Amino acid sequence: MSFFSTTEKPFLIAGPCSAETREQVISTAEAMQGLPIQLFRAGVWKPRTRPGSFEGKGVEALIWLEEIKAAYGFKTTIEVAEPSHVEAALLHHIDVLWIGARTVVNPFQVQRIADSLKGVKIPVMVKNPVNPDVDLWQGAIERFQNIGITELAAIHRGFSTYKTSNSYRNQPNWIIPVELKRRLPNIPIFCDPSHISGQASRVAQVAQKAMNIGFDGLMIETHINPNEAWSDAAQQITPNELRQLLLNLTIRNEYPISENGLLELEYLRQTVDNIDAEIIDLIGKRMEISSQMGEIKRQNNITAYQPERWREILETRCEQARKLSLSSNYIASIYELIHNESIKKQLEIPQVDNKNLEM
Ligand code: PEP
Ligand code: MN
Repeated sequence: MSFFSTTEKPFLIAGPCSAETREQVISTAEAMQGLPIQLFRAGVWKPRTRPGSFEGKGVEALIWLEEIKAAYGFKTTIEVAEPSHVEAALLHHIDVLWIGARTVVNPFQVQRIADSLKGVKIPVMVKNPVNPDVDLWQGAIERFQNIGITELAAIHRGFSTYKTSNSYRNQPNWIIPVELKRRLPNIPIFCDPSHISGQASRVAQVAQKAMNIGFDGLMIETHINPNEAWSDAAQQITPNELRQLLLNLTIRNEYPISENGLLELEYLRQTVDNIDAEIIDLIGKRMEISSQMGEIKRQNNITAYQPERWREILETRCEQARKLSLSSNYIASIYELIHNESIKKQLEIPQVDNKNLEM
């Protein structure tokens, strides 16, 4: 029986983003007593995006985790990013290892870590890579399977984008973990709502969504005093908040693939979200070009509103709409809004000779 197969859902991993001080990590564990956690997490080597941020306490923190195990009976898990981390973790009796999102993007590094585990029996959790690539995620899991690790789990922590269009820190792209589950049905899949949401106030909401989709577990960053955290302060919750989150969580035991259409609905919503993001992006680009045209019109003393051009826009867009069986009135209304805004913006550019304006 795999370490990760429990009858209780969710399989729960909680603890601070980073082990900062002995006092911080121990008081966090102490406040977590009684919570149904299977693993106490803490980062001891932290891959930070920019240099100069807190990069973890290393081996010193492994000793604190051993203390926590002895005092509170929690099994422990840390992120390993290179073979020397694996060696130190094994020496200090860490129970489960996880591979972080920034490591999973590098197959050579994943292979090096996997090779350092040959002949070792330890459960491993593999986070998704920072980029939305299900093959890369699957490939990292396979590298551990290939060297003989049998107890494996995947952790979904969302995907980076440049300037997120909504309020996630890392876009969930739910369809990707769902696809991984379809490909590897025997690998439990956990969700890390902390790194997806990036905000303490939204962790519960993302955790619930993961449960609705049928995830097997959760990894939640928990800190005794999140405001003072040395890494990921905005997204960590207190042990009490975690207790409350669990009380409010509705667990669905069935993996709802196609049984009730939930996953399909999730997939369609995700697709609509992506399309809307593109639409808004394109409207922004259109507006930028329109401003450039406004500038040229200004320099050449041409009026912003050109009735001929507007007729042409309307005709061609409605014609395209008809080909797609869309109502041309519907598309015409949308274009009236777009065009009016465009003209309005162009009129904001001071004209050389305003008496030429026809609007
Ligand atoms: C973490 O769990 O603290 C962490 C660094 O996660 P990720 O690899 O998902 O960024
Ligand atoms: Mn973190």
